[in-house]
Amino acid sequence: MKNLNKALLPGKTIGIIGGGQLGQMMSFSAKEMGYKVIILDPQEDCPAAQVSDGQIVAEYNDLDKLIELAKACDVLTYEFENVDADAINEVKKYTRVPQGIKALSVTQNRISEKDFITASGFQAVPHVVIENIFEYHRGVEKLGAPVILKTIRGGYDGKGQILIEDPENVCYADIEHLLMQGPCMLEKKIDLKQEVSVVVSANSDGQKSIFPIIENIHRHNILHLSTCPAAISEKSEQHIYQVGKTLAEKLELVGTMCIEFFISTDDEVYVNEIAPRPHNSGHLTIEACNISQFDAHIRGICNLAMPEIELLKPAAMVNLLGQHLENAKQDLINHPEWHFHDYGKDAVKENRKMGHITILSTDLTVTKQSIENNSIWDV
Ligand code: ADP
Ligand code: MG
Repeated sequence: MKNLNKALLPGKTIGIIGGGQLGQMMSFSAKEMGYKVIILDPQEDCPAAQVSDGQIVAEYNDLDKLIELAKACDVLTYEFENVDADAINEVKKYTRVPQGIKALSVTQNRISEKDFITASGFQAVPHVVIENIFEYHRGVEKLGAPVILKTIRGGYDGKGQILIEDPENVCYADIEHLLMQGPCMLEKKIDLKQEVSVVVSANSDGQKSIFPIIENIHRHNILHLSTCPAAISEKSEQHIYQVGKTLAEKLELVGTMCIEFFISTDDEVYVNEIAPRPHNSGHLTIEACNISQFDAHIRGICNLAMPEIELLKPAAMVNLLGQHLENAKQDLINHPEWHFHDYGKDAVKENRKMGHITILSTDLTVTKQSIENNSIWDV
């Protein structure tokens, strides 16, 4: 029997389920430290495989191939939360899976996620679970418009969501289409002052690193811009760090996770979502902090000591979606201050995350303005 809390040193092999940009940036961190990395992803030469030692080309739920990956590596991790928890339980027989399945199973489902937030003593967005149009009407009455209808599982970047501003004027076919996929969650639309997130990492010994709070601006429900430090009150800041520490404890966190928050115009702080993995808003930690959220993830799953996090310089990160990438590349030559990240995805699609740019800055207002003035992000 392996000693579960023993550190895994460079030279060992890390298996990553999922080969997108998060897997790629995990791999960069792992490779830099001297680990070997094998990716499992259905797409040959996916972003993470381009920078790793090997790839198993297979669907994420292909149990035989997951076992093959587990046997080939010393520790297994994942880059997204929609990994099959049963499959993870199965592959645990063959390798270390220090993250376990608690964080996965809680966060895979918006109902258990909200229940967990509330049971932990924190404020979730007011919501009701609905299964049919009758319950939809009752839900709208209870919460009061505007509301947002969301699928329980598998949503990302605002996919699987319908905003209902005016209940008298809705497309029932769209609502029924979502309901056909299973129970849905109806959420009160919060009047947002700000959105922020906090990244927390931990190792198997329970040592934690907590990153400075990041402020996020979404466009069409997709993250557009993140800045750090967040311009929030001392009180909100203390509360958010408390939420981060408490939820990390309760989820028995190993590796990196991120918690998204809403701050309403009346200064209430709501926990929106928990991602049991590195997060888009945390990309700026690569350049702005003493270690990145990806370094912290690798340290955590390998059970190395976790450092105190320092913000070395304020930073802004802006996403490059399919419609931005080419123009951003052309403009790179004019911007020595840009830390340019292109994930190497083969298909450039509208609203698909293709890369990001991080800018270190002593004046975030000026930096944000320069991004907003650049026509790249007009589309
Ligand atoms: P995803 O899984 O797609 O990230 P989220 O629930 O985080 O789903 O929603 C994406 C974005 O949509 C949020 O970051 C926020 O900008 C907006 N949004 C979602 N739910 C609400 C809500 N209840 N009130 C206000 N804005 C919301
Ligand atoms: Mg979200």
